[in-house]
Amino acid sequence: MLKVAKFGGSSLADAHQFEKVRKIVRSDPARRVVVVSAPGKRSSDDHKITDLLYLCAAHIEYGVSCESIFQMIRDRYEEIKKDCGLKTDLSRDFDQIWVHMQHGMAREELASRGEYLSARLMADYLGYDFLDAALWLKFRFDGTVDKEASYAALRRAAEGRNVVIPGFYGAMPDGRIRTLTRGGSDITGALAAAALDADLYENWTDVSGILMADPKIVENPAPIRHITYNELRELSYIGAKVLHEGTVFPVREKNIPLNIRNTNEPEHPGTLIMENIQDEAGGSPITGIAGKKGYCVITVGKTGMSSETGVLRRILEIIESHGVNVEYIPSGIDILSLVMAEEKAQGCLYAMLGEIQKEIAPDSIKVTEHMAIVAAVGRRMVSSPGVSGRIFATLGENGVNIRMITQGPEEINIIVGVEEKDFAQAIRVLYNTFMKEK
Ligand code: ASP
Repeated sequence: MLKVAKFGGSSLADAHQFEKVRKIVRSDPARRVVVVSAPGKRSSDDHKITDLLYLCAAHIEYGVSCESIFQMIRDRYEEIKKDCGLKTDLSRDFDQIWVHMQHGMAREELASRGEYLSARLMADYLGYDFLDAALWLKFRFDGTVDKEASYAALRRAAEGRNVVIPGFYGAMPDGRIRTLTRGGSDITGALAAAALDADLYENWTDVSGILMADPKIVENPAPIRHITYNELRELSYIGAKVLHEGTVFPVREKNIPLNIRNTNEPEHPGTLIMENIQDEAGGSPITGIAGKKGYCVITVGKTGMSSETGVLRRILEIIESHGVNVEYIPSGIDILSLVMAEEKAQGCLYAMLGEIQKEIAPDSIKVTEHMAIVAAVGRRMVSSPGVSGRIFATLGENGVNIRMITQGPEEINIIVGVEEKDFAQAIRVLYNTFMKEK
């Protein structure tokens, strides 16, 4: 049994958090591969190490001294080292980084040092080997990760060892350090889990899993215990921020379950994300509710449209030529709506309308702005009759005017378009209706 455990910045913010990590790792001998972020904020007004490193890079770029910021970074690590009673000497590393910074150290390499130093300390603290990500996480020159080469290299390097790996970076074919996008340690962990065919990828953070709804809208929403990769994708697409975007692909490809856990509440089982879930009878048909504001909808009506070929294609081509992406297409027999992000459509809305008018000669063409999309996502919806009826009824009874309805072919989501002013109310109403069944 192998579990790859990735710990995020808040789990490494100080010695107290390091201690929690060690307890978690030691409580299960299967946690043989540990991936760490750089230390994050200790409190809301504190700074993330990575942000401070980027700040140093910006100072250097503009020729301003960053000595005091660098000292802050150094102090953070020295404090963790001292409070954890560690022997690892980081002074040579810091001196070398400082000298290198004065002589053109690349921004990405500098940013990566947060994870590098964090992993060095954690390896010492756990009694695991430090395994540098630059030795196995291989980028191609175009910036994509060469999975095959990376997996093979990690398998060789980690064979039979307990290791701590720094997240967030890897190496280019010429050896230069390259970072993933912000929050990318999630991806390092997923790649490591996939490379080693782990039984489980644990992502330890500061929340007890994915919540059923946004806590800024719904008070104290319940966490989701089980969710499929498909459901998670639907929820993330529509706005639920949980994991770094690219995290899921490597583990999903290998059918490895992903468990989101809370370092500050380790007894909580968190959320388990899997390809398939064997559901017991009962329970709510809805797994989670998410939504986003800022949409506009172009509705085109034309008698006989359904029997005319190529109408949709021509409309889509016009929209595509303006670089706008259509997110949903609810349609009736002689009418169809195109839902797109307002931000993208704004600058070219009139041009698109003019072209559609000319090309299609519709009977009507209408634009609805300031729309919000709310999605109720649930794998059990397919087998629970009447869910959509209840969604529409409960929204109507609570004064939310539904402007648009659409459902994906897999029947794991029901999407409604509402006016932005009704957005929060729609989410609250749906949550209260369906949570009562949990
Ligand atoms: N430390 C990096 C960041 O702040 C990467 C990570 O934490 O995943 O973006």
